[in-house]
Amino acid sequence: MRSLAHFEAVAGSIKIPGEAVIDGKLTESVSGKTFANVSPRDGRVLNHVAQCGPEDVDLAVKSARRAFDEGSWRKLHYREKKRILFKLAELMERDIETLAVLESLDVGKPISNALGGDVPNAIRSLRYYAEALDKVYGEVAPEAPDRFSFVVHDPLGVIGAIVPWNFPLHMAMWKVAPALAMGNSVILKPAEQSPLTALKLGELALEAGIPAGVLNVIPGFGAEAGKALALHNDVDMLAFTGSGPVGKLLMQYSGQSNLKRVSLELGGKSPHIVFADCPDLDRAATEAAWGIFYNSGQVCTAGSRLLVQDAIADDFTNRLISVARKIVAGDPLEPATTSGAMVSEEQMKTALRYIETAKREGGTLALGGNRTLEGSGGFYVEPTVFSGVTPENTLAREEVFGPVLAITRFTEADDAIRIANDTNYGLAAGLWTKDITLAHRAAREIRAGLVWINGWDSCDITMPFGGFKQSGFGRDRSLHALHKYADLKSVSITL
Ligand code: NAD
Repeated sequence: MRSLAHFEAVAGSIKIPGEAVIDGKLTESVSGKTFANVSPRDGRVLNHVAQCGPEDVDLAVKSARRAFDEGSWRKLHYREKKRILFKLAELMERDIETLAVLESLDVGKPISNALGGDVPNAIRSLRYYAEALDKVYGEVAPEAPDRFSFVVHDPLGVIGAIVPWNFPLHMAMWKVAPALAMGNSVILKPAEQSPLTALKLGELALEAGIPAGVLNVIPGFGAEAGKALALHNDVDMLAFTGSGPVGKLLMQYSGQSNLKRVSLELGGKSPHIVFADCPDLDRAATEAAWGIFYNSGQVCTAGSRLLVQDAIADDFTNRLISVARKIVAGDPLEPATTSGAMVSEEQMKTALRYIETAKREGGTLALGGNRTLEGSGGFYVEPTVFSGVTPENTLAREEVFGPVLAITRFTEADDAIRIANDTNYGLAAGLWTKDITLAHRAAREIRAGLVWINGWDSCDITMPFGGFKQSGFGRDRSLHALHKYADLKSVSITL
């Protein structure tokens, strides 16, 4: 791993992107307005970014529609589409340090995570869908003597991809890659806190040869650019990752406009259950700690509710705390840093507010609880652990999206399953046990889109990702995601 000085030099040499990518060109917003993009690393303004509004959205939609109707991408031979997407992956690899440094500066995440996780994972996802695009087959319907009937997957048209700030490039790629693979045009709306890697991706897509209008990137505010995109009558689908309240708004916007399809990846309050017969307490403690503290807890699948069986609760809590004490909070560009900043002052204050609420409601503060590295000007919060949290406490019910863990004890296995399901969310769950029957039973009974047994976050692009209940619907990742971006068309020939 290279040094802080190296990454600071990379940061100093980058031309930080700030223009929208619309109709194959880098462009300012129609109004000429920009917004200040603050780095949570030190609270300083990194650059000014085009503030797109309804007029820019309309230009992007018109361009995307034109590209789709003319077929500059949709009708391209599959070998050519594949070649261009692979070329994009190569360019991302060429610029991997630039992308990682932009991500690190923009959202405050450790450079080691950006360089070892976010960017390579985004590239892997892109390659996965580039490889898959010529393996999507239609069907021939059962034979009727006088007809030949078949079913094809037709791309939907113009996809609005609205993404959050916690894994900006990676989440964007989970949507952009399968949508493009199926022949659609895409308008990517990055979160206002984290526009930089999306803008860089838009530039690289042009360099790779993706035709004008096929991938537009419109930075701007949710209530302005995002809303205009969601209400636009010529957008066929919204692929969203973000908060529950905004997910609910998108469904309203769809109903108020053209009934565009909506897929929602929303938040979670994921239970991480450790039964007394856990096969490896140290490993479980390490994964439980990183399951909440990775990316400063700003992970939709964060294991924010740790449920531990009585017999091992004290021992397990101690092991987890000793792992958490070794987490190195620091400058995101310093390679030794394992915990960076939270994305914004607002998000930091939200986490600190939840910490105060947990104290007021009687939780025992076992670790952390404070803002840290204040002198940097950035937005850092210590890894924080509360024990003695009851299932009714706010910390056990609401998503903090910060480095705050709630530990709750249970006695019987059935209690753990009941508590795990006592939530409006259903994104992920984890459990540790040697008992294969219990493991299967719990996996069946827990209402969550992802269940990990004896390991946390133990699957990748090959497995579907998404939630039950108010964690949303529709799946990213895996071959299933491709079908989200196409519709079935039944064609019948009378012989
Ligand atoms: P958010 O919902 O506020 O913003 C997400 C995106 O929606 C941003 O691009 C934002 O600009 C846009 N947006 C905001 N208001 C809008 C509106 N009225 N119309 C259209 N677009 C609008 O969420 P956030 O604060 O950026 O991200 C954190 C949330 O996202 C957390 O709740 C987290 O759990 C969730 N999340 C979920 C997943 C998942 O895969 N399930 C992944 C990451 C984050």
